[in-house]
Amino acid sequence: MAHTLPQLSYGYDALEPHIDATTMEIHHSKHHQAYVNNLNNALAGNPGENESLENLMANISSYSGAVRNNGGGHYNHSLFWSVLGAPGTAPSGNLAAAINETFGSLEALQEKMSTAGATRFGSGWAWLSVSDGKLTVSSTPNQDNPLMDIAEVKGTPILGIDVWEHAYYLKYQNKRPDYLKAIWNVINWDAVGARFDAAKG
Ligand code: MN
Repeated sequence: MAHTLPQLSYGYDALEPHIDATTMEIHHSKHHQAYVNNLNNALAGNPGENESLENLMANISSYSGAVRNNGGGHYNHSLFWSVLGAPGTAPSGNLAAAINETFGSLEALQEKMSTAGATRFGSGWAWLSVSDGKLTVSSTPNQDNPLMDIAEVKGTPILGIDVWEHAYYLKYQNKRPDYLKAIWNVINWDAVGARFDAAKG
């Protein structure tokens, strides 16, 4: 079962001016495509070839570094594209209630996630996950994620923010905190809410 690059449900320019079209095009069609290709190459004829991406993540310690890096890259970016693209939405329903209960406010959650992303040394991700039924914020290095059995903080990710330089360097250069401020303008909170409800079962 070969893994494939998911299509975006919006154009490369849909997140302008917060995330520029050139960054989106390179990020999706070059970086993400490379993770997909390298994952398929690493799995070809090897254990895990017929496993779902989620099952690979859950047992990632039994696989090679290539599967960890590229499988994580494929999972993380697929999630990332799905939680972007709808400027002007806000958390609602069960997710809004859980954010207020856990963090006090949306602003407090954003601050916590932005700090997690800004303080992640080198490349990685900031996450909002459901862990033991509760919302939790964490970060991971490289292309790791909270689904992986090796993750420090495990859970079901419902929102991920890519803090690799390739996600922001063309527009923001070294100013990762500026990118982390801007990205809140283009989060699709309806998609995050649907992931929250699914994770809560
Ligand atoms: Mn990326």
